[in-house]
Amino acid sequence: MGYGSIESIMSKDVLCASPEDTLADLLSMLHKNRIGCVPVCEDDVPVGMITERDAVEIAARVLAGKEDRQVAADVMSSPVTIIRASDSLEESAVRAQSVHIRYFPVVGDDGRIQGVVTQNELLSRRLIQELVEEQTVHLSTANKRLDKLAKLDGMLGIGNRRWMEERLVSTHEQLQREGKPYSLAMCDVDHFKLYNDHYGHLAGDRVLKRIAQRLVEVLRGADQVFRFGGEELLVVLPETVMEEAIRAGERICEGVRTLEIPHAESAPGIVTVSCGVASASPAEPQWRWQGVVQLADVALYSAKSKGRNCVVIASEVNDDEETG
Ligand code: GH3
Ligand code: MG
Ligand code: MG
Repeated sequence: MGYGSIESIMSKDVLCASPEDTLADLLSMLHKNRIGCVPVCEDDVPVGMITERDAVEIAARVLAGKEDRQVAADVMSSPVTIIRASDSLEESAVRAQSVHIRYFPVVGDDGRIQGVVTQNELLSRRLIQELVEEQTVHLSTANKRLDKLAKLDGMLGIGNRRWMEERLVSTHEQLQREGKPYSLAMCDVDHFKLYNDHYGHLAGDRVLKRIAQRLVEVLRGADQVFRFGGEELLVVLPETVMEEAIRAGERICEGVRTLEIPHAESAPGIVTVSCGVASASPAEPQWRWQGVVQLADVALYSAKSKGRNCVVIASEVNDDEETG
């Protein structure tokens, strides 16, 4: 990021003295310039600089008869350190800091004077720019963090329903464009109400967290687990055909079984999940993602009817209704 321009901070319309101007002329120009200095120029090219402090001191000594300097050429400090209007603010600030000079004539590419800039202006502007840049970086990091937080389920640490919909829209659009398939697995904890009733709601919460983590562990990096609602989790499996999706569903069921969380009210004696799997094929471009979610949900319902702790594939396509 740049540091702004010299032109934006320099004082323009500055009166210049010529080397022959008298001390009286200089004092009058200083009064009009109001910036505490007068550049001395020959044909608009700066050759020296006179500060108010130097001019007043010399005038006092001349009046007291201690000095005989009468014209700008005798009074000015020379040579001058010049800054170009096209120089970067950062470079100029570094130079200004190194030479311990308070005023710098600013010249154009033709070497003619365009204005005057002070060391203070250069340094303070650079400081402000640096602070602004630092704050901008902080803000952008904080915004990214907030954005991520707004998409996470606080309890399970996985994507929430809002993120799920965003991901479904982008996955559906991208893969349809590329002519690639994707699948969804809708997973639901078996007899979870009974679990809560038996072990308490807090114990139920802990189980849900472990299950969500387990799903993330057994799936590929490209797959993403979302909380669909309650104890239902939806997994998005990009570029995955039905056969692979069934295997992913089986890995999920097996992964949860291997946690071996006791469930006294369930036939297997441990916590299990059921999965409904549906695939979107590029051969059916008329599909909407809502229809694929609905199919996975119907398949999940079948898995429950079949006795739970299993994976069922959506076999029937019915995309007429929208689930939201
Ligand atoms: P099924 O095998 O048919 O899915 O039976 P189920 O008892 O799991 O199904 P049901 O939909 O009747 O009950 C789901 C339960 O999940 C009820 C609800 O209290 C519980 N539940 C949903 N979200 C949470 C949660 O965040 N924490 C806990 N502890 N329980 C939850
Ligand atoms: Mg359930
Ligand atoms: Mg449920």
